[in-house]
Amino acid sequence: MKAKIIDLIKQHTSFEIITHEGPDEDAVGSSRALAFGLLSLGKAVRIIYPSPIPDSLQFTPAPKEHRVSSPDVSLLLDVSDMSMIAGVTPRGTIVVIDHHKTNDGFGDLNWIAPEKSSTSEMIYELCTDLNIGISSAMATNLYLGLFGDTGGFVHANTTPEVFNLASDLARAGADPNAIANKLRKTRSLSFFHLLCSVMERLFFQEGICAGYIEFSDMLRARARPEDTSGIIDEMASLAEAELVILLKELDPDTVHGSLRSRTGKAALNTARAFGGGGHAMAAGFTHRGRAKALIQDVIEEGGRWIEKG
Ligand code: 5GP
Ligand code: MN
Repeated sequence: MKAKIIDLIKQHTSFEIITHEGPDEDAVGSSRALAFGLLSLGKAVRIIYPSPIPDSLQFTPAPKEHRVSSPDVSLLLDVSDMSMIAGVTPRGTIVVIDHHKTNDGFGDLNWIAPEKSSTSEMIYELCTDLNIGISSAMATNLYLGLFGDTGGFVHANTTPEVFNLASDLARAGADPNAIANKLRKTRSLSFFHLLCSVMERLFFQEGICAGYIEFSDMLRARARPEDTSGIIDEMASLAEAELVILLKELDPDTVHGSLRSRTGKAALNTARAFGGGGHAMAAGFTHRGRAKALIQDVIEEGGRWIEKG
């Protein structure tokens, strides 16, 4: 499928890159890097983010985009299903490049590679196959995605290939220390206020660690959605936690569920029960309702999937 996508890119001149709502490091990094790559081939490119990039991810070089009135091709990056691009309608030939296991292969053409750490890893490969030289701006963006999706070279997707790629990107101009500092040492005070709210009502039983953030907590902490990121990682650092559940009310009637499991597929199976998806050990879902009313159901569902020690 990758070969057909390469042919399609060679044959066309105008592109729209679309990534998922709530763009994370991999979404931003892979989109910006591919845009730089296509621009270097003389193509017209625009990136569409269904919801804004968090301020904390604005630090990497951004390509100078074009006004693309009617793209030949829409490239959907890191998008596991159409619901992840809420409100955006792709135009032209739809190409999907993604590494989520739950991606069922939608679009006119797709390249789905669950064995890859990140969409950024796939974009590096695609650009190399297109004979695009990896500029320093591209390397910085790809490293952002690689670092983000591997949790800073910690998660189970941290393969030998990931370290080879990190090395190539560092040689091409990505600054590992600067990027890690921008991602890891820029917490807001709101983050710590939210963390306190979650810790005060933390639930732990039989390997399940669960908590939630109400919309009123968000208001009290003057928090932006991105101030919630990292809280689940703190919970997942608990030695006995096999499955971690964090429900977040990002607006008053929508709950975003985040799940992490230490091993196996408990996170994915639990997320699927609530209409979501993702990866075996890191998954999520979006649900109408209130966190407090939902948390017990998610804990019960999670209990069905973890192997009790
Ligand atoms: P997070 O907990 O960081 O929001 O998401 C973890 C993983 O689950 C990500 O890889 C993401 O793609 C996936 N994910 C998060 N929310 C949803 C959702 O609402 N639907 C689907 N299908 N996947 C999600
Ligand atoms: Mn990704």
